[in-house]
Amino acid sequence: MSKKIIIAIDGYSSCGKSTLAKQLAKDLYYIYADSGAMYRAITLYFLRNEVPHTNISQVKKALGNIHLEFVFDVDAGKSILYLNDENIELNIRDMVISEKVSEVATIKEVREFAVAEQQRMGIHKGIVMDGRDIGTTVFPHAELKIFMTADIAIRVERRFKELFAVNPAITIEEVKQNLEMRDYIDSNREISPLRKAEDAVILDNSNLTMAQQLKIALQWAKEKTDLA
Ligand code: C5P
Repeated sequence: MSKKIIIAIDGYSSCGKSTLAKQLAKDLYYIYADSGAMYRAITLYFLRNEVPHTNISQVKKALGNIHLEFVFDVDAGKSILYLNDENIELNIRDMVISEKVSEVATIKEVREFAVAEQQRMGIHKGIVMDGRDIGTTVFPHAELKIFMTADIAIRVERRFKELFAVNPAITIEEVKQNLEMRDYIDSNREISPLRKAEDAVILDNSNLTMAQQLKIALQWAKEKTDLA
């Protein structure tokens, strides 16, 4: 049996990272971990409990009360994130969270908390994790690092379709502004900014179907697994 590897997928907002990560994990029988969902869950907790972001002792106290766990849901065929035993999967996709998450993700203590959890999940390898700093900070020794990108117009359209399905009041402009704001904050923050790791391969999926991008990534994974 071939050895298991770590696959790190980073890139801009709404590039289809989680779609690819989920498909890869399914095909390879690996764990899929959505690191963005963890930052979203922390943001949800902070909003609900009115944790002031600038007060580090309150931030630390709040993090001490947060327990995050991915639980595989057989019916849904995917992992669901639980925040202190509550399924918060639907709550964390709200625009209210999208508007605050990148700010929360700049906090050093928040990142240390999330990164420690993420590294723990990868101890036995056989994991596909997507995010912004997976190939650079969380798993700098990941065997396969993919940096995903796509045209902004295409990303906005994809995200708009997803959000419109659950919230018909949403506008294209709102979605565009949110993506641009998050990309800006994520790329310019002090700690672990969004960067392509030097040894990452670029996957621009602007003109690729999901099946095409999966085929490319599976081939990369096969090459790295053969070497492992
Ligand atoms: O992946 P997703 O868009 O759900 O991530 C939400 C936000 O969480 C990102 O815009 C970014 O601010 C933050 N994030 C991060 N590092 C990660 C994953 C997500 O800072 N590894």
